Amino acid sequence: MYTCGLTVYSHPQIGNWVAYIYSDVLTRTLILSGFDVNRVQNITDVGHLVSDDDDGEDKMEKGARAEGLTAWDVADKYIAVATEEAAKLGLLTPTKTVRATSLIPEQIEFVEGLEKKGFTYIIENEGVYFDTSKLDDYGKLAKLDIEGLQAGVRVEVNGKKNPTDFAIWKFSPKNQQRDMEWDSPWGKGFPGWHLECSVIARENLGDQLDLHTGGIDHIPVHHTNEIAQTEAFTDKHFVKYWFHNNHMKINGIKMSKSLGNSYKLQDIISKGYSLNAFKIMVLSSHYRTEGNFTWDILDAANNRYLHWQSLLNRKWQDLGKSQDQTDLIPRMVESAINDMSDALLNDLDTPSAFRILDETITDLEELDIDIKSAGSIEKLEEFLGDTLGITFNNSDLTSSQKGTIRKRQEARDNKDYLASDKLRDDLMGEGIEVKDTAGGPVWSRL
Ligand SMILES: [Zn+2]
Repeated sequence: MYTCGLTVYSHPQIGNWVAYIYSDVLTRTLILSGFDVNRVQNITDVGHLVSDDDDGEDKMEKGARAEGLTAWDVADKYIAVATEEAAKLGLLTPTKTVRATSLIPEQIEFVEGLEKKGFTYIIENEGVYFDTSKLDDYGKLAKLDIEGLQAGVRVEVNGKKNPTDFAIWKFSPKNQQRDMEWDSPWGKGFPGWHLECSVIARENLGDQLDLHTGGIDHIPVHHTNEIAQTEAFTDKHFVKYWFHNNHMKINGIKMSKSLGNSYKLQDIISKGYSLNAFKIMVLSSHYRTEGNFTWDILDAANNRYLHWQSLLNRKWQDLGKSQDQTDLIPRMVESAINDMSDALLNDLDTPSAFRILDETITDLEELDIDIKSAGSIEKLEEFLGDTLGITFNNSDLTSSQKGTIRKRQEARDNKDYLASDKLRDDLMGEGIEVKDTAGGPVWSRL
């Protein structure tokens, strides 16, 4: 499995994380199904130009200038930020993460291979270009209308032979020294953005991939060009399954730094929300559907999260004897886990999985949970953590708190209500509420 990673030129915005939250649940679902997932993710630290059409500046060099740093320092800075934020989101770490700049000789060899096979041409002062007309099925992923594109093109960009041709090696501008540039058989320069994914995927996963993930905006250019390069180079079919997530708008409009409507994860944390709520908000939309972020929608997702947590935090103290003779709770939990798994296995239907969970939690709230069923509740919580990556803050009681609950129960059994009320208040002071049920005391965090 290959995942297109971040371009590390500035602080990631919440919209950037959407793709990784979906691919995380996809990975977890595959693991649940018994697959041994080998996932490689790249870090774009060179060559991603401001425009997808090989125009404009390198985002890295531009980001570096804005901060008065070198492109290398900017890359290091935002790789650290992204790593920390991915951990805060509880995303599984890819099997391997590879920086584009770590495979420069391999990228040069790849261009040489394409050159030998006659797929390239050089535009002076611009770079080595891939001739897309040399492939019969160029644009098949995006179902590109090549003839329409040819006819509709306004200007011949930089002397390209076909409007869809793209740079695989860009030349450094004359009289300007870049932070990141390398010697090559064609001249000093740097790899084109699409090239890194073809080369990193091939070096680490071989000529053919089972799965490739990324945002839908990558379909017409980036992924289309990855396919073109790799299939031209290997003569093999590149990817079996593509997984493309839709985007999340912010307040109903496209996220953009210039509109000032982009947020960072820290903005969510600063308002007191759990990042679990953010993940629930994202996953409440199917990955193919366009999502929307507003503070109200996040607030609703947070309430949903707290509702789940209030049930999962209820636990039995080991005192009462089992009253659930029919195994009702274990059966309810088992069927909920099965139904949620089925939903995920059906094109990663996270909204349905959440609806099943809502219903199950509401049903469970009606029931007293005894010591025997408490294990089932823990199983449900474990499933949510393992498969949906949603975790709950319910660390276990300390042994002294357990002792207090036990002493309180003994006091009640001896009808010493003065003492039992005092111990109940002590627990309240520590944020633990104890309720008495037919099966014994049950505790929850306040
Ligand atoms: Zn990519």
